[in-house]
Amino acid sequence: MTGLYLSREAAKILAMARSAIDVHTVALDGRCQVCGSVGCAARTAAQATFARYHQLPHRRPGATHPETLVPLRASSGQLQ
Ligand SMILES: [Zn+2]
Repeated sequence: MTGLYLSREAAKILAMARSAIDVHTVALDGRCQVCGSVGCAARTAAQATFARYHQLPHRRPGATHPETLVPLRASSGQLQ
C-alpha cells in the first residue's frame, strides 16, 4: 500500500479546508448556501488548498441538504 504522509501542519490546513467545503455547499442554482454567491470565495480557496496538496476532499453524504432544494419543473427547466 502506498500513501502520502502529510505533516501535522498540512493535515491541519486540509482539515480547515474540508470544513469550509462542508459548510459552503452549492445549491442546484449554483449559489453557495451560506454566501449566496456564485463561485464562493471560501469554497474556491478551500479547493485550491486541496489542489496544492494533491488531495481530494472527502464527500460528506447529505452535506448539500437536498431535502431543502426546490425541484426543477420538467417542462420548463426553471426553478419553481
Ligand atoms: Zn460560500
